[in-house]
Amino acid sequence: MAKPDLMERVVNLCKRRGLVFPSSEIYGGFRSTWDYGPVGVLLKRNVKDAWWRTMVQLRDDVVGLDAAILMHPRVWEASGHVQAFTDPLVDCRNCKERFRADHLPESGACPNCGAKGSFTEARRFNLMFETHVGPVENDASVGYLRPETAQGIFVNFLNVQTTSRKKPPFGIAQIGKAFRNEITPGNFIFRTREFEVMEMEYFVPPEDGPRWYEYWCQERLRWFADLGIPEDELRLRPHDPDELSHYSTGTSDIEFAYPWGWGELEGVANRTDYDLRRHSEYSGQDLSYYDQDADRRYIPHVIEPALGADRCMLAFLLAAYHEEEVRGEKRTLLRLDPRLAPVAVAVLPLSRNERLNPVAHEVADLLRPRFMIDLDDAGSIGRRYRRQDEVGTPRCVTVDFDTLDDRAVTVRDRDSMGQDRVPIDKLVQHLEEQLSA
Ligand code: ATP
Repeated sequence: MAKPDLMERVVNLCKRRGLVFPSSEIYGGFRSTWDYGPVGVLLKRNVKDAWWRTMVQLRDDVVGLDAAILMHPRVWEASGHVQAFTDPLVDCRNCKERFRADHLPESGACPNCGAKGSFTEARRFNLMFETHVGPVENDASVGYLRPETAQGIFVNFLNVQTTSRKKPPFGIAQIGKAFRNEITPGNFIFRTREFEVMEMEYFVPPEDGPRWYEYWCQERLRWFADLGIPEDELRLRPHDPDELSHYSTGTSDIEFAYPWGWGELEGVANRTDYDLRRHSEYSGQDLSYYDQDADRRYIPHVIEPALGADRCMLAFLLAAYHEEEVRGEKRTLLRLDPRLAPVAVAVLPLSRNERLNPVAHEVADLLRPRFMIDLDDAGSIGRRYRRQDEVGTPRCVTVDFDTLDDRAVTVRDRDSMGQDRVPIDKLVQHLEEQLSA
């Protein structure tokens, strides 16, 4: 499929099937934010759960945290964000549109009006949303919506380290909303002004930083591949020295082949001891770690894998979207990994019939505590299969008239469309085996 078509088709599918809606649509939309509908919210939760499972549940060296969005304004001075969290901004003198100077096309032409040589000099634009905290609006009440969750982790380093009794190397993981006043939001949920980020700060002895940085680059690449992104649609791109953030000695982007070209999916950064050192200086609290075994005190270095949940969901959608022809008809399906699929099992009575209805409900009630299910009895069975294929439901369970006699149902596989007959009393076990990784 031509790449531009792919993007358009995924965006349409998201709207049509209740995954993602334009924000404030009845007021004409808000362009830079999106809302997740009944199916989208399930997919996004599964993306976040898959990350949490890998990063926290399956490891004994990482613990979780949920810090506040609003923080003491000194946090953002210490972190360098007030001074340096900026993008270069240019105006087109012809059409007055604004652009990120580092995202302009090589031709130098304005992406909006096509004028050449029309850009102003680049100036720095701070991406943090400023607000006022409390009832008085003055300089002393200025606060910020956090542009990353990482700082909530750094300021809690001592709280977490002492209460969890972890020793470096260990990590603190957090999922939460972040806000950036992006100059040019766009490409659907790829770049928005409000998004959710999944970040883990991994604290290590200083000399071990480079080794752990390599380790996390490879671990994170493996995670995407394990959840179904083809390896030729992923690559690791180390930043050039002039691209590095103010705090980093090494950063690599895990890039995905988006329909418009390679672009960042996740960043893995060696943040050194920058953040803990700065917070020690600004707060006056000693954030160093005393290693009893080696009898030495040091400020841990930090390796950070940081991934947007929304951007990640987009990559999974793009990689999973397929169209094929089945008996002369187009079939659209999302080949999502069962761990990500919004609905795991659809329960479909063959037709809306008062004899089938009670059994369909019985099957649905049996499955509901174990799986996210969708009980759907409206329309032809063929059309209902197609609807489930479109949102990536891995298995459909059909209750038909034979079920009334043999107490068995038909289980249909999304990808092969193959069907198995399974007794109802073996159904949970059968599905659990099929849907577990
Ligand atoms: P860019 O250079 O594209 O603006 P960045 O390098 O500033 O991105 P990071 O600070 O590394 O991005 O953010 C970590 C991750 O958070 C990104 O890899 C991406 O997945 C996600 N992310 C960052 N900004 C946005 C955004 N505006 N909308 C959606 N996701 C975002």
